[in-house]
Amino acid sequence: MNQDTQDLGSDTQTQHDQHGRWPQAETVEDFRRNLAAVHARIDASCERAGRDPAGVRLLPVSKTVDEARIRLAYAAGCRCLGENKLQEVSRKWEAMADLTDLKWSVIGHLQTNKAKLVARYAAEFQALDSLRVAEALDRRLQGEGRSLDVFVQVNTSGEASKYGLQPDETAAFLRQMPSFPSLRVRGLMTLALFSAEAARVRQCFVLLRTLRDRLRQECPQGVGLDELSMGMSGDYEIAIEEGATVVRVGQAIFGARNTPDSYYWPAESGPDAAA
Ligand SMILES: *Cc1c(COP(=O)(O)O)cnc(C)c1O
Repeated sequence: MNQDTQDLGSDTQTQHDQHGRWPQAETVEDFRRNLAAVHARIDASCERAGRDPAGVRLLPVSKTVDEARIRLAYAAGCRCLGENKLQEVSRKWEAMADLTDLKWSVIGHLQTNKAKLVARYAAEFQALDSLRVAEALDRRLQGEGRSLDVFVQVNTSGEASKYGLQPDETAAFLRQMPSFPSLRVRGLMTLALFSAEAARVRQCFVLLRTLRDRLRQECPQGVGLDELSMGMSGDYEIAIEEGATVVRVGQAIFGARNTPDSYYWPAESGPDAAA
């Protein structure tokens, strides 16, 4: 295990054995209970790591969840939701335009032909990993007269199938960001290895944090690296022990998904096969 790993939390296990078994939330009460349970685990993880829970934002992820259940989550207090795919979320944006204080965070790979939708409707984009997308987004944002909070996605698992920049490409990428004045870089985002082996999952989070700490020292003006978006239902507690400021949690709040994860991050073929 890496030296940077905090000894205190190193026994924390993943909840990946729960994967696909979280019960469906069907009522506002279910959502309240699930949100409270996740917040309690966030607080406990912060306690172990000696962190202030105010420094960790829970981003509920509502992909595959239909409008009716999203409205229940809204009633239970959710005001920002993460979605992975544009074709899915753009329908929801239209259907739920009446919920004017509900913000949407796009957390999945973006194709340039969808940049206009993100520029118009999203509050945040967490999966920036190409200059082409940066360029397309910046141009669309200027057209809208808006700016957008973005996270740069880094591949920390070494899996060819995962999106994101290689860690050693990230510094050069960040140096280009001042060319895109409508993008406000807030930090880095990653998906850990999907494994029940907690130590290997933790390595991914340690890698993102140490990369961030290193890049901070040479960061161009206007590029912020305060945020680390890492951790999902199966591993957010470990991510928090390693410094996550945003955790993206779907199934532990909404219930198990039927859609296999390979639909969102292809396992067999290369990332471009998903396009
Ligand atoms: C679906 C998704 C999550 C949440 O996964 P859960 O297992 O539902 O918690 C987190 N990050 C990204 C990028 C996702 O697509």
